[in-house]
Amino acid sequence: MEIRPTVAIDGPAGAGKSTVAKEVAKNLNIDYLDTGAMYRAVTYIALRDYWDLHNEEELNEKIQDLEFKIKTSERGETITIINGEDVTPFIRSAEINQNVSFIAKSSAIRKKLVLLQRQLGEMGGIVMDGRDIGTRVLPQAPYKFFLTASLGERAKRRYKELVTKDPNLNIKEVEKDIAKRDNIDKNREIDP
Ligand code: C5P
Repeated sequence: MEIRPTVAIDGPAGAGKSTVAKEVAKNLNIDYLDTGAMYRAVTYIALRDYWDLHNEEELNEKIQDLEFKIKTSERGETITIINGEDVTPFIRSAEINQNVSFIAKSSAIRKKLVLLQRQLGEMGGIVMDGRDIGTRVLPQAPYKFFLTASLGERAKRRYKELVTKDPNLNIKEVEKDIAKRDNIDKNREIDP
């Protein structure tokens, strides 16, 4: 019988979760879901459409109007389509990095995305990475991992990814952004 396990991988930014998760998915021939991509996709729409990121009532209203479709690219990356638009090419910018943790603090947004993630995980045969997978999204997952590395290592990894698009990037700035994001993610009220 084919084994189709459910695997949860959590940890801070830049630890290598998605690199590991993609390999695991490929090797076990199961699906991969990058839940961070979903929060990033909502952040892209929010910034583009001038949502007030700090107004929970407004976020609650706006998120209800978004319809999500999740696919996987040939390279194994999570593709997020919102109201028919593939926003994936726009979700890795510095602007998104600097704002995504504010979107991820919202109870209304987490509620909607966690529900979608649970639906995608309910059949098993999936590896999901994020921050709250083992604790909130898939608490019943038999395999749970927490992946981390020092802030310096994580900044180095992120810098290497981003510098190809922005040659003026400064590694100290990347480190500062990651530390700030970690701090908001760790200290938020819901599912820190
Ligand atoms: O994993 P990645 O760094 O792309 O995630 C971007 C942001 O999305 C995180 O910093 C966090 O604020 C949020 N996130 C979350 N819960 C998840 C996945 C990501 O709050 N399951």
